[in-house]
Amino acid sequence: MSTDIAIVGSGAAGTLTAWRLRALLGDTARLHVFECDQVGGRARHIEFAGERVELGGTLIHTDNRRIVELAAAVGLPLAPRRVEIPAGDGSIALWDGHGFLLRVPDSGLGLPLGLVRRYGPFNLLKLRRLAQRAKAAWNSVYALQEAGRVFETPDELIRATGLDQFVKISLTDLARRHGISDKLVGQFVTGVLRDMYNQTSDIVALAGLVGLAGAGLAGGSLVASTEGNATLFAQALDRIGADIRVPLAVTAVRSDDSGVTVTAGETCLTVDAVVLAAPLELAGIEITTPDGPLPTATGRRYQDVHVTVVAGEAEPAFFGGGPTPGDVLTTADPDIGFKAFAQIGHSQALAQPIWKFFSAEELSDDFLGRFFRRVAAVHHHLWQAYPVLTPDPSFHPFRLARGVYQVNDFESAVSTLETEATIGWSVADLVARDLKRG
Ligand SMILES: Cc1cc2nc3c(=O)[nH]c(=O)nc-3n(C[C@H](O)[C@H](O)[C@H](O)COP(=O)(O)OP(=O)(O)OC[C@H]3O[C@@H](n4cnc5c(N)ncnc54)[C@H](O)[C@@H]3O)c2cc1C
Repeated sequence: MSTDIAIVGSGAAGTLTAWRLRALLGDTARLHVFECDQVGGRARHIEFAGERVELGGTLIHTDNRRIVELAAAVGLPLAPRRVEIPAGDGSIALWDGHGFLLRVPDSGLGLPLGLVRRYGPFNLLKLRRLAQRAKAAWNSVYALQEAGRVFETPDELIRATGLDQFVKISLTDLARRHGISDKLVGQFVTGVLRDMYNQTSDIVALAGLVGLAGAGLAGGSLVASTEGNATLFAQALDRIGADIRVPLAVTAVRSDDSGVTVTAGETCLTVDAVVLAAPLELAGIEITTPDGPLPTATGRRYQDVHVTVVAGEAEPAFFGGGPTPGDVLTTADPDIGFKAFAQIGHSQALAQPIWKFFSAEELSDDFLGRFFRRVAAVHHHLWQAYPVLTPDPSFHPFRLARGVYQVNDFESAVSTLETEATIGWSVADLVARDLKRG
């Protein structure tokens, strides 16, 4: 007998849910993926000045097992991000609005040595140990999944992996508890987290430590799909023969004694299960269970992030003369006007470097006029990027009602392509087990 499963959302979470369900249920399952915007979700790229530019989820850590294995299975290469023609001096720097607190070569031992010089070896060592411990706890989820462990709630997964020690507390407080200096946390760590989550070190420690692991503190390195991360998800869904309905927004899900119905436009589909792989607060879906309407508001907010991509020649006077660093992090001074920027490539077509900025407000023409000597092309994009990552978040269970599941609550603890993919995998395990039990 065939099974029909609807998956709402085609980002990392929805794609890995579908991928895992196909492996578990085989060809008899019909997988209907509803996507109201573009396949890939927050993984999205554009062609800009003749080059491919990622606007959202970009970098994948080489230890990110679910995404790395998906890329290998689909046959899409992952490669380090490399700027062929650096515009400045190839340095990474930390800017406090007045001067550079740190400015070191962005290669080899440049950054570790610079950090040791500024913050001392012990602070760095202790921070590194914390990042490694968080990584090890996270990585234990793979072994549990492979041993057949099925999780009913995010809390259960968090406890089973030992991640709870990193979820109930902010990174600032955890670092203090481990005797790591406020100077390191308030400056460099905050700089990294303003880049990764547009937030400070006061975020939930797990997200913060995952961010630091991404910055190289826990080994491994960073790669991205050479074809664009959204292409990876699109090809994976194609490979498993998912019935992709795009652009089509799901507006209602009803679970009652006769089954589950999914409403999207003119379509009303009866399915055995539906997986909501999109933030419940943003998805605009009315969920009705036998007990009545399910409140989806959890009180969590999503962080607005403006991404500005510019092809242009930087004005050395902006930073007081000399070459512009290739990668700039900032401390939490509200007057700085941006959270981070980096040179991410070079446009052959326009013969200009390409820069990507993150900011809380849209970068104004006035700012761009001061930052650049010449602007050849600009692209603006606004994301509701990730939750405001408050420590000790609360979660819905993965199963909201009979036949209705959610993935994205876990994002309140950490929001990355890999963590979303891995939770999607776990939710697929739960769905398959429930279907087998009937
Ligand atoms: C600017 C930025 C930079 C980032 N950088 C990184 C990075 O370098 N590395 C990293 O690992 N992570 C990064 N992230 C985080 C990462 O992109 C996200 O954690 C991840 O993509 C979320 O995946 P998801 O599948 O859970 O959600 P999404 O990708 O948001 O997928 C949900 C999908 O559901 C669709 N949808 C919503 N409602 C409905 C509906 N009613 N009907 C049908 N479809 C619906 C949406 O259109 C969307 O496509 C970044 C995020 C942003 C915004």
